[in-house]
Amino acid sequence: MEKFLLRNIDNPNSSDIKEYIKAGGYKNLSRAVGMGQDDVMEEINKSGLRGRGGAGFPTAMKWKFAKADPKFPKYLICNADEGEPGTFKDRPILEKNPHLLIEGMVISGYVLGAEFGYIYLRGEYPAARDILDAAIAQAYKDNFLGDNILGKGIKFHLSVHQGAGAYICGEETALIESIEGKKGQPRTKPPFPVNVGAWDMPTIVNNVETLSNLPLLIEIGGEAYAKIGSEECPGPKLFCVSGHVENPGVYELPMGISLKDIIYEHCGGIKDNAKLKAVIPGGISTPVLPADSIDCAMDFVAMPKAGSMLGSGAVIVMDESVCMVKVTYRALRFFEHESCGKCVPCREGTDWLRKILERIEHGKGRKGDIELLSDVAGVMYGRTFCPLGDGAAGVVLAMIKHFRNEFEEHINTKKCKY
Ligand code: SF4
Repeated sequence: MEKFLLRNIDNPNSSDIKEYIKAGGYKNLSRAVGMGQDDVMEEINKSGLRGRGGAGFPTAMKWKFAKADPKFPKYLICNADEGEPGTFKDRPILEKNPHLLIEGMVISGYVLGAEFGYIYLRGEYPAARDILDAAIAQAYKDNFLGDNILGKGIKFHLSVHQGAGAYICGEETALIESIEGKKGQPRTKPPFPVNVGAWDMPTIVNNVETLSNLPLLIEIGGEAYAKIGSEECPGPKLFCVSGHVENPGVYELPMGISLKDIIYEHCGGIKDNAKLKAVIPGGISTPVLPADSIDCAMDFVAMPKAGSMLGSGAVIVMDESVCMVKVTYRALRFFEHESCGKCVPCREGTDWLRKILERIEHGKGRKGDIELLSDVAGVMYGRTFCPLGDGAAGVVLAMIKHFRNEFEEHINTKKCKY
């Protein structure tokens, strides 16, 4: 498949506006303005674009809610807070192709009637911060940002807001709280940010990859875009692959490609010809799949049927040398640390789960611990304020479902053999 999101990133100066323009950049912004807001909206609708942050919500539907709200000003926020272990798919866009994102945001701001945009950047991406700041300054200088974009009187201002390293700020309402200068904790929904978002105004929060799809969508049109990838989830998708593969990295492939093909065709198979044990397909919060379950399509509709979720498209591949109890324990250490503490099932539940897993992994597991883990995770699931708690519980439940024997072995032998 021809690359679009990762186009030109091998050019050492790919983040420079001159190189971006030389490669056809910002032409799609002119095209979009020539088409008018309603026609662009119609193309987005035809394209079937879904948000690439994990939830897969149809972009056109989300935008229609914000557009229909008469309150002004409206805000556009790019969620660049990819903090989930295993996830680094947006990083090449932020560091190598920042003008693609900026062009996508200006098009989006134009369509939505938003005059102010923010890129909420992960605290641990300092290089991306400098690159984005430089790219934004170039875009202002060349009149692609400001009060009179392309000389057409279009106004859109953009700045970077860097987080302080809290995973929960990837949740859109916690992110908005953080931008407002408050503690990053999720808000009650409804009302949804499309109507009551930043400073209580209509606010669209979309992921880096979603917004970076806008120029392509304008370039080829909604119908052609809908023919890329799977029918229900069209378009190109970035997959970041880590772990025991020969060629880890970020791959731009059609949505709906088989997980097996990603690993064996594109990433060169399992490292050193080892045997595959398991794959976490969409970042650490998505349920693990055992080796015999990877012949499944990677999209938002097919993955739940296969027993997991697409999540962010962060594929973590594990060979037979990996201890699944240790993976579960490390995952829960992360979730316990990142729990914002707002709701009891997550605040207490992640702490309990981590403690039980810690003793099992360290040879101090007790009879009944697997049942206790299942019980605590089962009580958490569906009862937490935001998806972090569900993610933590889901990881434990899926690991016990597929690798119960390893938990039993740890408890019975009082040691980890890995
Ligand atoms: Fe905070 Fe966890 Fe509750 Fe989310 S689920 S609001 S992270 S305590």
